[in-house]
Amino acid sequence: MVNLLNFNQQQLAQWFAERGEKPFRAKQLMRWMHHFGVTDFEQMTDIAKSLREKLAVEAEISLPTVQLERVSNDGTRKWLIGADTANSIETVFIPEDDRGTLCISSQVGCALECTFCSTGRQGFNRNLSVAEIIGQLAIANQSLRLEAGYDLLPAGERIISNVVMMGMGEPLANYDNVVTAMQIMLDDSAYGLSRRRVTLSTSGLVPAMDRLKEDCPVALAVSLHAPNDALRDVIVPINKKYPLKALMAACNRYLEKAPRDFVTFEYVMLDGVNDTVEHAHQLLELVKNVSCKFNLIPFNPFPGSGYGTSKQSHIQVFRDILMQAGYVVTVRKTRGEDIDAACGQLAGVVLDKTNRTTKRIPIEAIT
Ligand code: SAH
Ligand code: SF4
Repeated sequence: MVNLLNFNQQQLAQWFAERGEKPFRAKQLMRWMHHFGVTDFEQMTDIAKSLREKLAVEAEISLPTVQLERVSNDGTRKWLIGADTANSIETVFIPEDDRGTLCISSQVGCALECTFCSTGRQGFNRNLSVAEIIGQLAIANQSLRLEAGYDLLPAGERIISNVVMMGMGEPLANYDNVVTAMQIMLDDSAYGLSRRRVTLSTSGLVPAMDRLKEDCPVALAVSLHAPNDALRDVIVPINKKYPLKALMAACNRYLEKAPRDFVTFEYVMLDGVNDTVEHAHQLLELVKNVSCKFNLIPFNPFPGSGYGTSKQSHIQVFRDILMQAGYVVTVRKTRGEDIDAACGQLAGVVLDKTNRTTKRIPIEAIT
């Protein structure tokens, strides 16, 4: 059975064409699946009964299963979602006054081994399918809509206004599925989000950044975390393959097509590792030719990480140096900590398939 959640509108039109059906069926199906959240073909009343029956034989609309939903004291919500019997991933909703942001996972685990990231420490199992990526948005949408007391949201109203590809995994390492899922997010027949409201965060896979700029240029966040190659080689090891000079050049190329006129640099604040006055000055030197903003993320600890969170006063000094140089700097508020939903705390359940250089932390110690 083919799961229609794996297709964007163009692919669905192609699938219908191969079966002698009109391409506009794709638009109808996208609306039913994504806009109205309907998974039963029988309920799709503007589709002829004969076609509905044909669809039921050949296809399905199958969402991943929710294993657990938790709500934090601050309103942050986390879903543990089953990818298959061995693995699960996590999705987080962060409500704010002016927006509602959904943080979506792209892989079961991550192969990139950043030393301060619990997902990275867990190892890697597999890429998520398009249905599993877009299914996170569908599940969250449905749950939040029912929670707000609506069968259907009033026209123009959105509970999830923004999506960030910042959950488990490196989105650009699962390029095709992530791009297809983002195309569905942007599709007016599906979720209709603007490119400015979908942000992809990458640790800096340079060739894939160049492809993304052509295929689906959404807002870009880059996990920098260190102002020089020597340090970044250690804490973000992919830097050995794509060092800072190449990364900065890729950011500038991306800006030619980006929906915003800046790249957001994420910088996790690790006590005594990357948070000194000297690091701040090096950072200014590094980015001087790139139009950017900074998002400083206080490190969220997890057992056995070996790192501590920078002192509040150090974060302030670091921020002020960047601000005095004229940059916009935000310090990320930690949300959902009580339910382990904060940045870098997403662990899910990952059956590791790699031979890690660092010893894997038992899942029980993390979740
Ligand atoms: N793989 C992508 C996206 C997922 S991680 C990337 O690395 O960009 C989303 C953000 O959370 C990244 O900036 C990541 O470096 C950061 N992060 C990871 N572990 C963290 C931790 N323990 N505390 C705070 N931020 C963390
Ligand atoms: Fe992977 Fe991002 Fe974690 Fe690095 S920070 S290990 S790239 S999820």
